[in-house]
Amino acid sequence: MKAVVFEQHGGPEVLQYREVPDPKPGPNDVLIKVKAASANYNDIWARRGLPGVKFDMPHVSGSDAAGVVAAVGSEVRGVKPGDEVLVHPSMSCRACEACTSGQEFFCRDFKIWGFQTGPNDGGHAEYARVPAVNAVPKPKNLTFEQAASLPLVLMTAWRMLVSRAQVKPGDFVLVWGGAGGLGTMAIQICKVFNARAIAVVSSDEKAKRCQELGAAYVVNRSKQDVAEQVRNITNRRGVDIVFEHVGQATFPTSIRSLRWGGSLVTCGATSGFEAVTDVRFLWNKQLNFHGSHMGNKAELLAALRFVESGHIKPVIDRVLPLKEVPQGQELMEQDKVVGKLVYVPEAA
Ligand code: NAP
Repeated sequence: MKAVVFEQHGGPEVLQYREVPDPKPGPNDVLIKVKAASANYNDIWARRGLPGVKFDMPHVSGSDAAGVVAAVGSEVRGVKPGDEVLVHPSMSCRACEACTSGQEFFCRDFKIWGFQTGPNDGGHAEYARVPAVNAVPKPKNLTFEQAASLPLVLMTAWRMLVSRAQVKPGDFVLVWGGAGGLGTMAIQICKVFNARAIAVVSSDEKAKRCQELGAAYVVNRSKQDVAEQVRNITNRRGVDIVFEHVGQATFPTSIRSLRWGGSLVTCGATSGFEAVTDVRFLWNKQLNFHGSHMGNKAELLAALRFVESGHIKPVIDRVLPLKEVPQGQELMEQDKVVGKLVYVPEAA
């Protein structure tokens, strides 16, 4: 089959669109003919390489995919050839104490599919092999492209806001990267919970998209001071929740923007890992810091119900042929994407 693959870390030039061996499903796996896959920032982290993380080569990225089940292993029940599915990207043993208590991200075998799996084991390919338990029915109201755009960012944003920060009606939520993959989901989740998203973006075009998605306020960081705008909007009180994933560049502003007793929830650090915290604010304002990583299957299914009801909509920037993954990664690195990039294999 054709896939986008790399064998050494580097810039987008290390990505090759070429033949790789077809995946072989084990007894508990399903083989999916990929109709669409999407881009995540972890594709870029893997391609660049991360200190302390070993990537199996050749590496096929892609933590989101949707398609049709082509074959199932001998032990698989409940999923059959022809089923339309999307992939739940959290892989774990499903048997340990963490997994059976709904905390699969604490499993010793936890892996993000298409990021930590391999060799040749991700969604940017014509076929994908995943454990049957990770094949989730595709919502009927979605195209394959729409379905592939959702799982990782939808589930992550849901866990951050609902499970970790416990968003409530009326809350002010500062959403960094409001027009990004996570941000477009966070704005819509806030709306579901009657919370007020203050979306931060870097252009007027992105500001418009955030308003359309239901952001109560939008701050354009390229021409406005975010902390000052937060003070004005909240009448000097500060926000109840900061939705963080930018890290080093935004952390001090995030902390300054919180109300007394407010919560910061973070899942990433696009701009750098050395985020500075003035700890006086932490104790004096009695702030809460929550780390959050991916989500469990129940969180994905809970969030998908709001997709089925039309309350949360996929946000697709554009659909590209699979072989244009390098171009897609460049667009993401330049912050030129609104919502998600979707890739389709030629024969899909
Ligand atoms: P994305 O679609 O590329 O969006 C990121 C947004 O961040 C951009 O649209 C940009 O918005 C904003 N941004 C970038 N640099 C910034 C800066 N210096 N200051 C302020 N804003 C900045 O990426 P994503 O899919 O939302 O993911 C975001 C991060 O979360 C990535 O690092 C990713 O690896 C991480 N993540 C972690 C998990 C997890 O489970 N741990 C899951 C998903 C994602 P503007 O330019 O418009 O402001």
